[in-house]
Amino acid sequence: MAKRLCLASVLFFVCAGIASAQDAKTVLQAAQKAMGDVSSIQYSGTGHLNFFGQAWTPNAAWPVTNLTSYTKTIDYSSKSAKEDLVHSEPSPMVKGGGRPFKGDDKQANYVSGQYAWDMPGSAPVPQNGAAAERQLQIWLTPHGFLKGAMENNATAKKVAAGMEVTFQTGKFTVSGTIDAHNMVTKTETHVPNPVLGDLLVETAFTNYKDFNGVKFPMTIVQKQGGATVLELNVSSVNPNPGLNISVPDSVKDAKPPAIKVDSKKLGDGIWFIAGGSHNSIVVEFPTYIAVIEAPLGEARSLAVIAEAKKLVPNKPIKYLINTHSHFDHSGGVRTYVAEGATIITQEINVPFYKKAWADPRTLAPDNMAKANKVATFIPVKEKYVLTEGGRTLELFHENGSMHNAGMLIVYFPKEKILEEADDYTPDEPDVPAPGGIRPAVFIANLLKQVQILKLDVQTVAPMHGTVEPFSEVQKAAASGNG
Ligand SMILES: [Zn+2]
Repeated sequence: MAKRLCLASVLFFVCAGIASAQDAKTVLQAAQKAMGDVSSIQYSGTGHLNFFGQAWTPNAAWPVTNLTSYTKTIDYSSKSAKEDLVHSEPSPMVKGGGRPFKGDDKQANYVSGQYAWDMPGSAPVPQNGAAAERQLQIWLTPHGFLKGAMENNATAKKVAAGMEVTFQTGKFTVSGTIDAHNMVTKTETHVPNPVLGDLLVETAFTNYKDFNGVKFPMTIVQKQGGATVLELNVSSVNPNPGLNISVPDSVKDAKPPAIKVDSKKLGDGIWFIAGGSHNSIVVEFPTYIAVIEAPLGEARSLAVIAEAKKLVPNKPIKYLINTHSHFDHSGGVRTYVAEGATIITQEINVPFYKKAWADPRTLAPDNMAKANKVATFIPVKEKYVLTEGGRTLELFHENGSMHNAGMLIVYFPKEKILEEADDYTPDEPDVPAPGGIRPAVFIANLLKQVQILKLDVQTVAPMHGTVEPFSEVQKAAASGNG
Protein backbone atom coordinates (compact mmCIF):
# COMPACT_ATOMS: atom_id res chain seq x y z
CA MET A 1 0.00 0.00 0.00
CA ALA A 2 2.73 2.41 1.04
CA LYS A 3 4.57 1.57 -2.15
CA ARG A 4 1.54 2.32 -4.34
CA LEU A 5 0.91 5.63 -2.58
CA CYS A 6 4.51 6.60 -3.16
CA LEU A 7 4.26 5.69 -6.82
CA ALA A 8 1.05 7.70 -7.14
CA SER A 9 2.59 10.77 -5.57
CA VAL A 10 5.69 10.48 -7.76
CA LEU A 11 3.44 10.38 -10.82
CA PHE A 12 1.48 13.37 -9.54
CA PHE A 13 4.60 15.50 -9.20
CA VAL A 14 5.97 14.36 -12.55
CA CYS A 15 2.64 15.22 -14.21
CA ALA A 16 2.45 18.60 -12.46
CA GLY A 17 5.87 19.47 -13.84
CA ILE A 18 5.09 18.53 -17.44
CA ALA A 19 5.15 21.51 -19.79
CA SER A 20 1.83 21.99 -21.52
CA ALA A 21 1.05 23.89 -24.72
CA GLN A 22 -2.59 24.32 -23.69
CA ASP A 23 -1.58 25.95 -20.37
CA ALA A 24 0.83 28.21 -22.26
CA LYS A 25 -1.91 29.59 -24.50
CA THR A 26 -4.11 30.47 -21.53
CA VAL A 27 -1.21 32.04 -19.62
CA LEU A 28 -0.04 34.05 -22.64
CA GLN A 29 -3.52 35.35 -23.46
CA ALA A 30 -3.98 36.50 -19.87
CA ALA A 31 -0.56 38.18 -19.90
CA GLN A 32 -1.18 39.91 -23.21
CA LYS A 33 -4.51 41.22 -21.90
CA ALA A 34 -2.91 42.51 -18.69
CA MET A 35 0.20 43.98 -20.33
CA GLY A 36 -1.49 45.43 -23.39
CA ASP A 37 -0.78 44.39 -26.96
CA VAL A 38 1.55 46.58 -29.00
CA SER A 39 2.92 46.28 -32.52
CA SER A 40 5.90 48.49 -31.69
CA ILE A 41 7.38 50.11 -28.62
CA GLN A 42 9.98 52.72 -27.72
CA TYR A 43 11.55 53.09 -24.30
CA SER A 44 14.23 55.43 -23.00
CA GLY A 45 16.25 55.81 -19.85
CA THR A 46 19.65 55.98 -18.22
CA GLY A 47 21.72 53.58 -16.14
CA HIS A 48 24.85 51.56 -16.64
CA LEU A 49 26.40 49.63 -19.48
CA ASN A 50 29.18 47.12 -18.89
CA PHE A 51 31.97 45.76 -21.06
CA PHE A 52 31.19 42.05 -21.33
CA GLY A 53 34.26 39.81 -21.29
CA GLN A 54 36.59 42.62 -20.14
CA ALA A 55 36.76 42.05 -16.38
CA TRP A 56 39.87 43.07 -14.46
CA THR A 57 40.14 39.66 -12.82
CA PRO A 58 38.49 36.51 -14.22
CA ASN A 59 35.70 36.52 -11.63
CA ALA A 60 35.13 40.27 -11.26
CA ALA A 61 32.03 42.08 -12.58
CA TRP A 62 32.14 43.36 -16.16
CA PRO A 63 33.65 46.89 -16.03
CA VAL A 64 30.93 49.52 -15.75
CA THR A 65 30.31 52.73 -17.70
CA ASN A 66 27.69 55.42 -17.17
CA LEU A 67 24.82 55.09 -19.60
CA THR A 68 23.79 58.74 -20.00
CA SER A 69 21.23 58.19 -22.74
CA TYR A 70 19.49 55.08 -24.07
CA THR A 71 16.55 54.66 -26.44
CA LYS A 72 15.37 51.40 -27.94
CA THR A 73 12.67 51.21 -30.59
CA ILE A 74 11.29 47.82 -31.61
CA ASP A 75 8.84 46.97 -34.36
CA TYR A 76 7.65 43.47 -33.61
CA SER A 77 5.86 42.84 -36.92
CA SER A 78 8.85 43.64 -39.14
CA LYS A 79 11.31 42.12 -36.61
CA SER A 80 13.31 45.34 -36.61
CA ALA A 81 14.94 47.27 -33.82
CA LYS A 82 17.08 50.34 -33.32
CA GLU A 83 19.18 51.05 -30.26
CA ASP A 84 20.71 54.48 -29.64
CA LEU A 85 22.97 54.98 -26.68
CA VAL A 86 25.58 57.27 -25.23
CA HIS A 87 27.90 56.15 -22.47
CA SER A 88 30.89 57.64 -20.71
CA GLU A 89 33.71 56.72 -18.38
CA PRO A 90 32.89 56.79 -14.67
CA SER A 91 35.14 58.84 -12.43
CA PRO A 92 37.34 57.55 -10.94
CA MET A 93 38.12 55.10 -13.73
CA VAL A 94 37.34 51.47 -12.96
CA LYS A 95 39.76 48.66 -13.69
CA GLY A 96 39.35 46.40 -16.70
CA GLY A 97 39.24 46.45 -20.50
CA GLY A 98 37.27 48.44 -23.06
CA ARG A 99 38.65 51.65 -21.61
CA PRO A 100 39.64 54.33 -20.93
CA PHE A 101 37.87 56.48 -23.48
CA LYS A 102 37.43 60.22 -23.42
CA GLY A 103 34.11 62.00 -23.55
CA ASP A 104 30.93 60.40 -24.86
CA ASP A 105 30.90 57.20 -26.86
CA LYS A 106 27.79 57.20 -29.07
CA GLN A 107 26.43 54.03 -30.62
CA ALA A 108 23.54 53.30 -32.94
CA ASN A 109 22.77 49.64 -33.63
CA TYR A 110 20.17 48.27 -36.02
CA VAL A 111 18.63 44.95 -36.88
CA SER A 112 16.01 44.15 -39.50
CA GLY A 113 15.32 40.50 -40.24
CA GLN A 114 18.58 38.80 -41.21
CA TYR A 115 20.45 42.11 -41.51
CA ALA A 116 22.27 44.08 -38.84
CA TRP A 117 24.40 47.17 -38.95
CA ASP A 118 25.89 49.97 -36.85
CA MET A 119 25.87 53.67 -37.62
CA PRO A 120 28.99 55.07 -35.93
CA GLY A 121 28.82 58.07 -38.28
CA SER A 122 26.79 58.69 -41.40
CA ALA A 123 27.83 55.45 -43.15
CA PRO A 124 26.41 52.08 -42.09
CA VAL A 125 28.85 49.39 -40.97
CA PRO A 126 27.44 45.91 -41.76
CA GLN A 127 27.15 43.60 -38.73
CA ASN A 128 25.13 40.78 -40.28
CA GLY A 129 26.91 38.27 -38.06
CA ALA A 130 25.19 39.97 -35.10
CA ALA A 131 21.67 39.80 -36.61
CA ALA A 132 20.62 36.54 -34.90
CA GLU A 133 21.53 37.80 -31.43
CA ARG A 134 19.98 41.24 -32.02
CA GLN A 135 16.79 39.45 -33.16
CA LEU A 136 16.95 37.34 -30.05
CA GLN A 137 17.09 40.51 -27.92
CA ILE A 138 13.69 41.48 -29.41
CA TRP A 139 12.17 38.26 -28.02
CA LEU A 140 13.78 38.90 -24.63
CA THR A 141 11.73 42.10 -24.05
CA PRO A 142 8.41 41.71 -22.17
CA HIS A 143 6.04 42.19 -25.12
CA GLY A 144 8.42 40.51 -27.54
CA PHE A 145 8.54 37.49 -25.28
CA LEU A 146 4.73 37.11 -25.34
CA LYS A 147 4.67 37.46 -29.15
CA GLY A 148 7.54 35.03 -29.65
CA ALA A 149 5.88 32.51 -27.34
CA MET A 150 2.55 32.79 -29.16
CA GLU A 151 4.15 32.37 -32.57
CA ASN A 152 6.33 29.42 -31.59
CA ASN A 153 4.09 26.87 -29.84
CA ALA A 154 5.30 27.63 -26.35
CA THR A 155 4.82 25.29 -23.44
CA ALA A 156 4.18 26.26 -19.82
CA LYS A 157 4.85 24.81 -16.41
CA LYS A 158 4.31 26.02 -12.89
CA VAL A 159 7.35 27.31 -10.99
CA ALA A 160 7.72 29.06 -7.62
CA ALA A 161 7.61 32.56 -9.15
CA GLY A 162 4.57 31.90 -11.37
CA MET A 163 4.33 30.19 -14.75
CA GLU A 164 7.42 29.45 -16.78
CA VAL A 165 6.78 29.64 -20.52
CA THR A 166 9.33 28.24 -22.99
CA PHE A 167 9.66 28.36 -26.76
CA GLN A 168 12.23 27.72 -29.45
CA THR A 169 13.34 30.33 -32.01
CA GLY A 170 15.97 29.11 -34.44
CA LYS A 171 18.60 27.34 -32.36
CA PHE A 172 17.75 29.35 -29.25
CA THR A 173 15.50 28.19 -26.41
CA VAL A 174 13.82 31.17 -24.73
CA SER A 175 11.99 30.92 -21.44
CA GLY A 176 10.30 33.52 -19.26
CA THR A 177 8.42 33.83 -16.02
CA ILE A 178 4.91 35.31 -15.82
CA ASP A 179 3.87 36.22 -12.29
CA ALA A 180 0.49 36.16 -10.51
CA HIS A 181 -0.31 39.65 -11.91
CA ASN A 182 0.24 38.33 -15.45
CA MET A 183 3.40 40.41 -15.90
CA VAL A 184 6.59 39.08 -17.52
CA THR A 185 9.15 39.34 -14.73
CA LYS A 186 12.09 37.55 -16.32
CA THR A 187 13.28 36.14 -19.63
CA GLU A 188 16.29 33.97 -20.28
CA THR A 189 18.14 32.13 -23.00
CA HIS A 190 21.60 30.85 -23.86
CA VAL A 191 23.85 32.06 -26.66
CA PRO A 192 27.13 30.53 -27.83
CA ASN A 193 30.32 32.11 -26.49
CA PRO A 194 33.87 30.97 -27.36
CA VAL A 195 35.08 31.29 -23.75
CA LEU A 196 32.03 30.47 -21.64
CA GLY A 197 30.23 28.01 -23.94
CA ASP A 198 26.42 28.14 -23.68
CA LEU A 199 26.20 31.60 -22.14
CA LEU A 200 23.21 32.41 -19.92
CA VAL A 201 21.51 35.72 -20.85
CA GLU A 202 18.93 36.65 -18.21
CA THR A 203 16.84 39.81 -18.12
CA ALA A 204 14.78 40.90 -15.11
CA PHE A 205 11.82 43.31 -15.32
CA THR A 206 10.52 45.08 -12.23
CA ASN A 207 8.42 48.07 -11.22
CA TYR A 208 5.78 47.92 -13.97
CA LYS A 209 3.85 51.13 -14.81
CA ASP A 210 0.91 51.84 -17.06
CA PHE A 211 1.24 53.87 -20.29
CA ASN A 212 -2.23 54.26 -21.84
CA GLY A 213 -3.12 50.65 -21.14
CA VAL A 214 0.34 49.28 -21.94
CA LYS A 215 2.33 48.03 -18.97
CA PHE A 216 6.11 48.38 -19.09
CA PRO A 217 8.83 47.80 -16.46
CA MET A 218 10.66 50.84 -15.11
CA THR A 219 13.74 48.78 -14.29
CA ILE A 220 15.46 46.40 -16.69
CA VAL A 221 18.59 44.49 -15.72
CA GLN A 222 20.29 42.12 -18.12
CA LYS A 223 23.04 39.78 -16.99
CA GLN A 224 25.33 37.71 -19.15
CA GLY A 225 27.46 35.01 -17.58
CA GLY A 226 26.02 35.92 -14.18
CA ALA A 227 27.08 39.60 -14.15
CA THR A 228 25.27 42.76 -15.27
CA VAL A 229 25.74 44.00 -18.84
CA LEU A 230 22.88 46.54 -18.84
CA GLU A 231 21.02 48.27 -16.06
CA LEU A 232 18.33 50.60 -17.37
CA ASN A 233 16.12 52.91 -15.35
CA VAL A 234 13.32 53.64 -17.78
CA SER A 235 12.08 57.24 -17.82
CA SER A 236 9.68 57.20 -20.76
CA VAL A 237 7.71 54.67 -22.79
CA ASN A 238 5.99 55.29 -26.09
CA PRO A 239 3.63 52.51 -27.17
CA ASN A 240 3.15 51.96 -30.92
CA PRO A 241 5.50 54.64 -32.30
CA GLY A 242 6.26 52.53 -35.42
CA LEU A 243 9.78 52.13 -36.80
CA ASN A 244 10.60 53.01 -40.35
CA ILE A 245 14.00 51.68 -41.25
CA SER A 246 15.17 50.25 -44.52
CA VAL A 247 18.20 48.03 -44.83
CA PRO A 248 21.01 49.93 -46.60
CA ASP A 249 22.18 48.31 -49.86
CA SER A 250 25.74 48.11 -48.55
CA VAL A 251 24.43 45.96 -45.68
CA LYS A 252 22.35 43.75 -47.98
CA ASP A 253 25.35 43.20 -50.25
CA ALA A 254 27.90 42.74 -47.45
CA LYS A 255 29.84 39.47 -47.51
CA PRO A 256 31.02 37.96 -44.23
CA PRO A 257 34.48 39.41 -43.53
CA ALA A 258 37.18 37.03 -44.77
CA ILE A 259 39.71 35.74 -42.25
CA LYS A 260 43.01 37.16 -43.37
CA VAL A 261 46.39 36.02 -42.15
CA ASP A 262 49.32 38.22 -42.93
CA SER A 263 52.70 37.06 -41.60
CA LYS A 264 55.81 39.16 -41.25
CA LYS A 265 59.22 37.90 -40.16
CA LEU A 266 60.44 39.64 -36.98
CA GLY A 267 63.67 37.70 -36.69
CA ASP A 268 65.06 34.22 -37.20
CA GLY A 269 62.19 31.83 -36.46
CA ILE A 270 59.84 34.59 -35.22
CA TRP A 271 56.79 35.68 -37.20
CA PHE A 272 54.22 38.37 -36.44
CA ILE A 273 50.80 37.14 -37.60
CA ALA A 274 48.53 40.08 -38.47
CA GLY A 275 45.75 40.52 -41.01
CA GLY A 276 42.85 41.06 -38.61
CA SER A 277 41.89 43.09 -35.54
CA HIS A 278 44.16 40.99 -33.29
CA ASN A 279 47.68 39.65 -33.82
CA SER A 280 49.57 36.53 -32.78
CA ILE A 281 53.27 35.58 -32.82
CA VAL A 282 54.65 32.25 -34.04
CA VAL A 283 57.98 31.17 -32.55
CA GLU A 284 60.06 28.25 -33.80
CA PHE A 285 62.05 26.22 -31.26
CA PRO A 286 64.37 23.34 -32.27
CA THR A 287 61.73 20.66 -31.69
CA TYR A 288 58.43 22.56 -31.46
CA ILE A 289 56.38 25.70 -32.13
CA ALA A 290 55.07 28.15 -29.52
CA VAL A 291 52.30 30.59 -30.42
CA ILE A 292 51.64 33.78 -28.48
CA GLU A 293 47.94 34.74 -28.31
CA ALA A 294 44.80 32.99 -29.56
CA PRO A 295 42.32 35.84 -30.06
CA LEU A 296 38.64 36.00 -31.08
CA GLY A 297 37.56 32.40 -31.65
CA GLU A 298 38.09 29.07 -33.34
CA ALA A 299 38.00 30.38 -36.94
CA ARG A 300 40.88 32.79 -36.26
CA SER A 301 42.86 30.10 -34.41
CA LEU A 302 42.49 27.61 -37.25
CA ALA A 303 43.82 30.21 -39.72
CA VAL A 304 46.80 31.08 -37.48
CA ILE A 305 47.55 27.39 -36.82
CA ALA A 306 47.52 26.69 -40.58
CA GLU A 307 49.94 29.59 -41.11
CA ALA A 308 52.21 28.39 -38.27
CA LYS A 309 52.38 24.93 -39.86
CA LYS A 310 53.19 26.46 -43.22
CA LEU A 311 55.96 28.62 -41.75
CA VAL A 312 57.34 25.83 -39.58
CA PRO A 313 56.52 22.47 -41.18
CA ASN A 314 56.62 19.18 -39.30
CA LYS A 315 56.84 20.53 -35.75
CA PRO A 316 54.04 20.31 -33.18
CA ILE A 317 52.51 23.37 -31.54
CA LYS A 318 53.59 22.57 -28.01
CA TYR A 319 52.64 25.78 -26.22
CA LEU A 320 50.06 28.51 -26.52
CA ILE A 321 50.89 31.61 -24.50
CA ASN A 322 47.75 33.51 -23.47
CA THR A 323 48.42 37.18 -22.53
CA HIS A 324 45.22 37.69 -20.51
CA SER A 325 41.70 36.42 -19.99
CA HIS A 326 39.72 39.15 -21.82
CA PHE A 327 37.44 37.29 -24.18
CA ASP A 328 38.73 38.95 -27.35
CA HIS A 329 42.22 37.63 -26.44
CA SER A 330 41.22 34.21 -25.14
CA GLY A 331 38.34 33.11 -27.39
CA GLY A 332 40.64 31.01 -29.58
CA VAL A 333 42.67 29.27 -26.85
CA ARG A 334 40.54 26.13 -26.78
CA THR A 335 41.42 25.37 -30.41
CA TYR A 336 45.07 24.99 -29.32
CA VAL A 337 43.99 22.56 -26.58
CA ALA A 338 42.32 20.47 -29.30
CA GLU A 339 45.60 20.76 -31.22
CA GLY A 340 47.45 19.22 -28.26
CA ALA A 341 49.15 22.37 -26.96
CA THR A 342 49.76 23.17 -23.28
CA ILE A 343 48.34 26.54 -22.25
CA ILE A 344 50.70 28.99 -20.55
CA THR A 345 48.85 31.76 -18.71
CA GLN A 346 49.07 33.81 -15.52
CA GLU A 347 48.05 31.69 -12.56
CA ILE A 348 44.84 33.59 -11.69
CA ASN A 349 43.34 32.50 -15.03
CA VAL A 350 43.78 28.75 -14.56
CA PRO A 351 40.81 28.02 -12.25
CA PHE A 352 38.63 30.31 -14.39
CA TYR A 353 39.46 28.54 -17.66
CA LYS A 354 39.12 25.11 -16.03
CA LYS A 355 35.61 25.92 -14.86
CA ALA A 356 34.46 27.81 -17.98
CA TRP A 357 35.81 25.16 -20.33
CA ALA A 358 34.00 22.38 -18.47
CA ASP A 359 30.61 24.09 -18.96
CA PRO A 360 28.23 22.81 -21.68
CA ARG A 361 28.70 23.94 -25.31
CA THR A 362 25.72 22.53 -27.11
CA LEU A 363 24.99 25.65 -29.25
CA ALA A 364 28.35 25.83 -31.03
CA PRO A 365 30.55 22.84 -30.18
CA ASP A 366 34.18 23.58 -31.03
CA ASN A 367 37.08 21.21 -31.75
CA MET A 368 37.97 20.86 -28.06
CA ALA A 369 34.37 19.92 -27.22
CA LYS A 370 34.11 17.50 -30.16
CA ALA A 371 37.40 15.82 -29.22
CA ASN A 372 36.41 15.80 -25.54
CA LYS A 373 39.85 17.18 -24.62
CA VAL A 374 40.92 18.43 -21.21
CA ALA A 375 43.39 21.32 -21.06
CA THR A 376 46.83 21.16 -19.48
CA PHE A 377 48.25 24.40 -18.07
CA ILE A 378 51.53 25.95 -17.04
CA PRO A 379 50.49 28.62 -14.53
CA VAL A 380 52.87 31.61 -14.42
CA LYS A 381 53.25 33.48 -11.14
CA GLU A 382 55.80 36.24 -11.88
CA LYS A 383 58.21 34.79 -14.44
CA TYR A 384 58.53 31.78 -16.70
CA VAL A 385 61.20 30.97 -19.26
CA LEU A 386 60.74 28.83 -22.35
CA THR A 387 64.10 27.80 -23.67
CA GLU A 388 65.49 25.18 -26.04
CA GLY A 389 68.69 25.27 -28.06
CA GLY A 390 69.54 28.92 -28.72
CA ARG A 391 65.93 30.12 -28.43
CA THR A 392 64.68 31.82 -25.27
CA LEU A 393 61.39 33.49 -24.41
CA GLU A 394 60.88 35.23 -21.09
CA LEU A 395 57.34 35.61 -19.80
CA PHE A 396 56.61 38.18 -17.09
CA HIS A 397 53.53 39.04 -15.10
CA GLU A 398 52.83 42.73 -15.75
CA ASN A 399 52.28 43.88 -12.19
CA GLY A 400 50.15 46.95 -11.55
CA SER A 401 48.06 46.65 -14.70
CA MET A 402 44.74 48.52 -14.52
CA HIS A 403 43.70 46.68 -17.67
CA ASN A 404 43.97 43.12 -16.39
CA ALA A 405 45.32 41.70 -13.13
CA GLY A 406 46.71 38.59 -14.81
CA MET A 407 48.50 40.21 -17.74
CA LEU A 408 51.59 38.54 -19.22
CA ILE A 409 54.17 40.25 -21.41
CA VAL A 410 56.73 38.29 -23.43
CA TYR A 411 60.34 39.34 -24.01
CA PHE A 412 62.76 37.94 -26.60
CA PRO A 413 66.14 38.75 -24.96
CA LYS A 414 68.30 37.99 -27.99
CA GLU A 415 66.14 39.92 -30.44
CA LYS A 416 65.16 42.66 -27.91
CA ILE A 417 61.51 42.36 -28.92
CA LEU A 418 58.67 42.92 -26.44
CA GLU A 419 55.21 41.46 -27.00
CA GLU A 420 52.37 43.24 -25.19
CA ALA A 421 48.57 43.28 -25.36
CA ASP A 422 46.24 46.26 -24.94
CA ASP A 423 48.72 48.57 -23.18
CA TYR A 424 50.09 50.16 -26.34
CA THR A 425 48.07 50.03 -29.54
CA PRO A 426 49.49 52.06 -32.41
CA ASP A 427 46.79 53.64 -34.55
CA GLU A 428 46.42 52.17 -37.99
CA PRO A 429 46.12 54.95 -40.60
CA ASP A 430 42.30 54.90 -40.70
CA VAL A 431 41.44 52.94 -37.59
CA PRO A 432 41.48 55.08 -34.46
CA ALA A 433 42.03 53.38 -31.12
CA PRO A 434 38.79 52.51 -29.30
CA GLY A 435 37.21 55.72 -28.04
CA GLY A 436 39.63 57.77 -30.12
CA ILE A 437 42.58 57.77 -27.72
CA ARG A 438 45.22 55.35 -26.63
CA PRO A 439 45.13 54.23 -23.03
CA ALA A 440 48.00 56.33 -21.65
CA VAL A 441 47.57 54.94 -18.17
CA PHE A 442 48.24 51.43 -19.47
CA ILE A 443 51.32 52.55 -21.44
CA ALA A 444 52.76 54.22 -18.34
CA ASN A 445 52.48 50.96 -16.40
CA LEU A 446 54.04 48.98 -19.25
CA LEU A 447 57.04 51.33 -19.33
CA LYS A 448 57.38 51.14 -15.55
CA GLN A 449 57.43 47.33 -15.63
CA VAL A 450 59.97 47.29 -18.48
CA GLN A 451 62.21 49.49 -16.30
CA ILE A 452 61.72 47.40 -13.16
CA LEU A 453 62.48 44.20 -15.11
CA LYS A 454 65.46 45.92 -16.79
CA LEU A 455 64.40 44.78 -20.26
CA ASP A 456 66.44 46.21 -23.12
CA VAL A 457 63.59 46.58 -25.61
CA GLN A 458 64.17 47.82 -29.14
CA THR A 459 60.97 46.66 -30.86
CA VAL A 460 57.40 46.37 -29.66
CA ALA A 461 55.10 43.72 -31.17
CA PRO A 462 51.57 44.65 -30.01
CA MET A 463 48.57 42.34 -30.14
CA HIS A 464 46.63 45.13 -31.91
CA GLY A 465 48.18 47.29 -34.64
CA THR A 466 51.62 47.22 -36.17
CA VAL A 467 55.17 46.40 -35.08
CA GLU A 468 56.96 49.60 -34.04
CA PRO A 469 60.29 50.74 -32.64
CA PHE A 470 60.05 50.86 -28.84
CA SER A 471 60.76 54.61 -28.99
CA GLU A 472 57.16 54.99 -30.29
CA VAL A 473 55.87 53.60 -26.98
CA GLN A 474 57.99 56.10 -25.06
CA LYS A 475 56.76 58.93 -27.32
CA ALA A 476 53.15 57.84 -26.82
CA ALA A 477 53.61 57.84 -23.04
CA ALA A 478 55.21 61.29 -23.11
CA SER A 479 52.41 62.76 -25.22
CA GLY A 480 50.01 62.30 -22.29
CA ASN A 481 47.08 60.83 -24.18
CA GLY A 482 48.95 57.69 -25.17
ZN1 LIG B 1 42.27 43.30 -22.78
